[in-house]
Amino acid sequence: MGRALDRPLMSGRGIDPEEEATLLPVDAYREQIASSVRVLEPKTVPLADAHGLVLTSDVFAPFDLPRFRSSSMDGYAVRSDDVTSVPADLGIVGEVRMGLETTLVVGRGEAVAVPTGGIVPEGADAVVPIELCEPAPGGRVTILRPHPPGKHVRPAGEDAVAGELLMPSGRRLRAPDIGALAAAGIVSVDVRPRARAGVVSTGDELVRPGTPLSGTQIYDANVHTLMACLREAGAEPVDGGTVADDPDALIAVLDKLADDTDLLVCSGGVSMGVHDPVKRAFETGGEITFANVGMQPGRPQAFGTWRPRRSGAEAREVPFFGLPGNPVSVFVSFEVFVRPALQQMMGYQQDRPMVDATLDGDLDAPRTRMRYARVRVRRDGASFVATPQTGHGSNLLATFARSDGLALVPAGTRLRAGDRCSVILIREVT
Ligand code: AMP
Ligand code: MG
Repeated sequence: MGRALDRPLMSGRGIDPEEEATLLPVDAYREQIASSVRVLEPKTVPLADAHGLVLTSDVFAPFDLPRFRSSSMDGYAVRSDDVTSVPADLGIVGEVRMGLETTLVVGRGEAVAVPTGGIVPEGADAVVPIELCEPAPGGRVTILRPHPPGKHVRPAGEDAVAGELLMPSGRRLRAPDIGALAAAGIVSVDVRPRARAGVVSTGDELVRPGTPLSGTQIYDANVHTLMACLREAGAEPVDGGTVADDPDALIAVLDKLADDTDLLVCSGGVSMGVHDPVKRAFETGGEITFANVGMQPGRPQAFGTWRPRRSGAEAREVPFFGLPGNPVSVFVSFEVFVRPALQQMMGYQQDRPMVDATLDGDLDAPRTRMRYARVRVRRDGASFVATPQTGHGSNLLATFARSDGLALVPAGTRLRAGDRCSVILIREVT
C-alpha cells in the first residue's frame, strides 16, 4: 500500500462544492472536441477492405448489368410464336454452356437447351422451364405450355445500363453494395478510410492478462475494452501497450503510435495525482486541455493534440483522448466523446440505438452532473423496461458487464419507478 501513502492529499474523486461550479457540461466538451477533429482524407482501398466505409466518389456502371440477355431458368430457349398452341414439338439444335458465347441461332420450329444464367441465343425470345417440357424421340422436345415473349428472359442492362450511377458518393458500404460493386468488376473504391486508433494504458499497478499478479497489481482491462470499443465503432485499433506512470515511457509510446494512427486514446493518469503521467508527457510538446466534465462516471477528461518529436519527420498532429482510468468510466467516455469524434472522422452515423424505457427502480443524478446509469433492459411487448443495477462504482466492470444499457439521467433529476427514461443500448436485448 506504499504508493497511496506517498501521494499527497488531493481533491480525489469526491467533488467539493467549489469544483462543481467549474464543471463543463458534456455538450460543451463535445463541441470543443468536434472543433479540432478533422474528417479523414479520402483514400483508394481494395474493395475487400471497404466494407463499412463511406464512399467519396460516385461509381458508374462500367458496362450493362447484366452484360447479356440471359435465362432465369434451366430450360429451352424458343420462339414464343412457335409455342402459342401446345403441345408444340421443336427440334433441339444445340446447347448453351455457362461462361461461353454462342453462335447458335434459334430458327422457326427450333429450341436450344439453356441453363440458368446462360445466354439466350439470337432468334429466341422466351425460355420454357425444363419442368414444362418433355423429351421427344429424335432429338426433339415437346413444349407443354405457351410462353409469351420475354418469359424467363433477363434483359441486358436490366439492373443498370452502362454509364448509369451505380453507387452514390456518401453511401456507407454495406454487404449488398460491396456485392453490386464486385458484380461490376470494381477492384478498388475511394472512401473515407477506417480510422486507425492507437490505444495505451497507464498505471504502475497494471499488468497484462497472461502475467501472474503480485502485490496489489491488477490486470489492464482498459486496453482490451478500448480496442473492442474501436472495433464496434468500425475503427482499427492499434495496441500501444500498458505503460507505467512514467512520462518518458508514455512519450515513447505516443511517438511510435502517432507515426501511423489518426487518433490516440489513453486511459488513466489524467487526475490530479503526482504520478499521473499524461500532463507531464505533454509538457514536452503538443497541446492538452484537462477538463472536469459534468458527467458521472467520467468526470476527469483530457483532450489534446500529440505532436511526435522526431527529427526530420514530417510534423504530424494526432488528436489525443486522455480518459479516466476507471474501467466503467473508460467505456462511458468512449461512448460519449470518442465515438462522436470517430463519426466525424469517418463520416457516418455512429450512434448506438437509444430507446425509451420505463424504469422499475429509482435513479438520481447529482445536482451538476449528467448520470449515465447502468441498467438491465428487457422487452415488455413493444416497449422496454429498465432495471437500475446496484453497485455504481466505476471500477465495477463485472457489474457493468451485466447491464444492457446506460440510462441518461439529466443533472439534478430524480427518477422514480414508473418514470420514462432514455436508454442507450450497449447490446441486443430480448
Ligand atoms: P487513474 O485514472 O490512473 O487515476 O486510475 C483510476 C483507477 O482506475 C485506479 O483505481 C486504477 O487502478 C484504475 N485503472 C487505471 N487504468 C486501468 C486499466 N487499464 N485497467 C483497469 N483498471 C485501471
Ligand atoms: Mg493511474
